[in-house]
Amino acid sequence: MIIAPLPHDAPIGVYIHIPFCAHICPYCDFTTYAGKTNLLPRYVDCVIRDLAKSAAPVTGRAAATIFLGGGTPSLLDPAHVATIVAACREHNVIAPNVEITMECNPNGLTEDRLAGYRDAGVNRLSIGAQTLDRRGLRTLGRQHEATDVFAALGAAHRAGFDNLSLDFIFGWPGQTLDSWRRDLHVVLSLPNQPAHLSLYSLIVEPGTPFANAAARGILFIPDDDASADMYEHAIATLADAGWRHYEVANWSRKPGGHSRHNAIYWRHGDYLGIGAGAFGTLGSRRTMNHLLPETYCQAIEAGLPAASNIETIDDATTRAETMLLGLRLLEHGVDTEAFRVRHGLTLDEAFGDTIDDLAAIGLMERIESGVRLTHRGLLLANEVVARFL
Ligand code: SF4
Repeated sequence: MIIAPLPHDAPIGVYIHIPFCAHICPYCDFTTYAGKTNLLPRYVDCVIRDLAKSAAPVTGRAAATIFLGGGTPSLLDPAHVATIVAACREHNVIAPNVEITMECNPNGLTEDRLAGYRDAGVNRLSIGAQTLDRRGLRTLGRQHEATDVFAALGAAHRAGFDNLSLDFIFGWPGQTLDSWRRDLHVVLSLPNQPAHLSLYSLIVEPGTPFANAAARGILFIPDDDASADMYEHAIATLADAGWRHYEVANWSRKPGGHSRHNAIYWRHGDYLGIGAGAFGTLGSRRTMNHLLPETYCQAIEAGLPAASNIETIDDATTRAETMLLGLRLLEHGVDTEAFRVRHGLTLDEAFGDTIDDLAAIGLMERIESGVRLTHRGLLLANEVVARFL
């Protein structure tokens, strides 16, 4: 059971951003750079120094999760990952059952490399499959084939990983409901089925090559109705197959198989943001680090803060954030008692009228433990959560 929000003194997460990719996919707006892997040794050194400095404000609080995200963390050698994990252990109290996740691209994931990550302490992999459709992979500018995804799953199992997640994108240009149906069918027929799936609707972000091509009329993105059909198809198909739809875009095959790191975000918990472009949250304090790896390294090497922006959030915004994040959790939503413990107000004192209005039109429901989205509310989740802002 994922109870949201977390209390102030709950264990934290550690997010470490690896902003390097072999090339930039045309839909991507993450903080990541191609052609800079020569910076990796220097960058890893700076991440270690950043970890040493960042631990002080969270002294005594256990780290329940470590997440190496990107970018493409699987560009790191196992020795680099081992050094980073060792630095986390040196500077933080690490929970005994810590979840250590690494995002990977499917190409280049040999059994040896994966065994090295496993030896470094990584115990969960999140692999970016995106689609198994060859035309889709080319449209999305990916450099792997579906066979690389299957090979990576097999190699990961042989290397001892049993906690694997696959990422997929739906609603890419040219995708049909049939091709999405095939992707899901293949995943559900795999001999090495992942424990977890993240399914994201393509969002065309301003400034990306996809946005420019769409604006020039040479790229046709499926409309909202087509994407909604794909989402509803995934919900129904995975429910029939016994998967648990626990968060708006996330499913687990077994109880307890959720992403514990991402659950810290949804539960409005605290996390350290380490590395270029990383965000961190500690209570009402939000930090964002220098975006460019070179600028980030220069700051760390000069003994300056990694953060280029620090913001303090007021109480009303913090309470709204709890709703925005917690309502993404579909089973228990936001818990009445946990909300009171975290914010010192009851849910009804803070948002009673909004909840009643949304319940009256069937988008939210009151349950014994608190409030959550209805199925209709899930399909309109962005509009519903906006009402709390
Ligand atoms: S591999 Fe991932 S992070 Fe890198 S450019 Fe492509 S979508 Fe962005």
